[in-house]
Amino acid sequence: MPLSTTEHTHLGIYFSLTRKRMKNIRLRVIAPSGEVKVSAPHRARVEDVLHFIAEKQVWIRQHQQRIQAQIPDTPVPEQDLEHLREPMKQRIAELLPIWEQRMHVRASSFGVRKMKTRWGSCNIRTRKIWLSLALAAKDEDLLEYVLVHELVHLKEAGHNARFYGFMDEYMPDWREKHKRLNPNARIRL
Ligand SMILES: [Zn+2]
Repeated sequence: MPLSTTEHTHLGIYFSLTRKRMKNIRLRVIAPSGEVKVSAPHRARVEDVLHFIAEKQVWIRQHQQRIQAQIPDTPVPEQDLEHLREPMKQRIAELLPIWEQRMHVRASSFGVRKMKTRWGSCNIRTRKIWLSLALAAKDEDLLEYVLVHELVHLKEAGHNARFYGFMDEYMPDWREKHKRLNPNARIRL
């Protein structure tokens, strides 16, 4: 039988699933990307695979963090983004009230700054959102994606099933945007 590979997300963990001639389900976390690859026998049910992911989720996350910790920060392009700072802030100022209304949340304020390892952050206590200036060089919908991600944190602090449930609700195609923004998954949100 030919190898068939499909992509899945379970409990917020992205993984590719390849069917092979083998006896047991196996899992690898690939360095340096932290990508999760699962191999399973042809006869294994999808539920079995999801159960396997659930059992291993703590190990997977720890392993991904360990891998990321060994990687130097992704260099932000050297090009000067400063001239894009004001247009970016204007765009956020347009988007923010739309999403606040849609999501029934309220940020106290937002800021744009250079960030080395993140696209955005949200201080749950002060409700202030920071977005990376590097987003100014990306497709405009990716700025919107990160903004929505940070606003979801005002509803749910953790990256858990509830969090991703909100993402699915407000931005059903967020996974495609996430992949476009993080092709090598080195920058966290
Ligand atoms: Zn986050």
